[in-house]
Amino acid sequence: MKLDSVRGDFPILQTQSHGKPLVYLDNAATMQMPQAVLDVIGQHYITANGNVHRGVHGLSQKSTDHMEKARETVAGFLGSAQNEVIFTSGTTESINLLSRMLEPEIHPGQQILVSAMEHHSNLIPWQELCKRTGAALNVIPLCPNGDLDLQELEKLLARETALVAVCLVSNVLGTVNPVKEIARLCHKAGARLAVDGAQGMKLGKMNVKDLDCDFLAFSGHKLGALTGIGVLYGKEQHLERLRPVSYGGGMVHTVRYEGAEYGQVPARFEAGIPNYVGAISLGAALEYLRALGLRQISAQEEGLTEQLAAGLAQMQGITLWGHPQHRSGCVSFTVEGVHPFDMGVLLDSLGFADRTGHMCAQPLVESLGVSSVIRVSPAFYNSPEEIEAFLSAVEKIIPMLRG
Ligand code: PMP
Repeated sequence: MKLDSVRGDFPILQTQSHGKPLVYLDNAATMQMPQAVLDVIGQHYITANGNVHRGVHGLSQKSTDHMEKARETVAGFLGSAQNEVIFTSGTTESINLLSRMLEPEIHPGQQILVSAMEHHSNLIPWQELCKRTGAALNVIPLCPNGDLDLQELEKLLARETALVAVCLVSNVLGTVNPVKEIARLCHKAGARLAVDGAQGMKLGKMNVKDLDCDFLAFSGHKLGALTGIGVLYGKEQHLERLRPVSYGGGMVHTVRYEGAEYGQVPARFEAGIPNYVGAISLGAALEYLRALGLRQISAQEEGLTEQLAAGLAQMQGITLWGHPQHRSGCVSFTVEGVHPFDMGVLLDSLGFADRTGHMCAQPLVESLGVSSVIRVSPAFYNSPEEIEAFLSAVEKIIPMLRG
């Protein structure tokens, strides 16, 4: 990967923050947008904008074609069929939508399992579903190094399990979960697996058929697309069986005053005018990533994350949270005697963008014995020099903040 040319693709990386060159290390929160995607969005509004799936006029048809082409790109990226791709507003909506779609199939006496490393978006919808249905919510514990405890999962699966919901990659510990193995264990026990792919979707070639997960949710903005667009993938056999939970235009076949007949999958789950420009931006972002090469992207990101983890581990008074067998995407740490917020503010004043807080994973962070952490999440467009600069800034700041 030619880093200079890749960095040139992202206009925001050429800007300054507080008069210093911007070092953007908050990619787990949102990724920056390449010029290629900005251009596609601009061109769409200039040449092709029209409401999709509704008009016979040329713009409407062009717009529809562009959105459905984006669905084809997403399906190609996932290794799924096109009708298994439901456009949503993001991971959070995908998981909420799924929880409502599954509701008629969940009963008292069953359990839903979530892991102890979930983001609130992959926890609260399941808590609420359990409240509504009388099912129990149980938590798969982690090993001391931050890996999912697969032996405990296997034991927990002995009870009737409607669904297991785990992340692809933890947004705090950077743990990459062995989804294929988890799917095998779930299916052996008759349970379905939903994967929160908000983190980790650009880390190598995804193939949902090979992973064999039943559902997968992810967000466009973490891949270089617009905010407000995301995907819920579901195996066709499930989607065909499940009922829609949101009603309105675009999702129906015939409507009479007495009732409505719903359309095909996935339109049945996309009531209302979809965020078609968002979908088109997602298609463009995935094309951009594919052209760069997912293998190179993941090698670059994992190299930077390892560099960070190794550098921080050498500093006195720093605790790294999580030492998973396979880490990707981020490193979280705390510094003895220093509040993460103060560290974040000072780093920001020096041009470094990272994240401090509980990362929307409060139960996990509190289980570590802290209330907040500093999270650093490099992307493929970051350089080893930026990581070095970050590490020396942290080293310089610590005595200042302790003093
Ligand atoms: N799950 C994980 C693991 C995440 O990191 C995030 C985003 N921080 C989400 C879910 C929610 O994603 P979104 O806010 O884009 O819906």
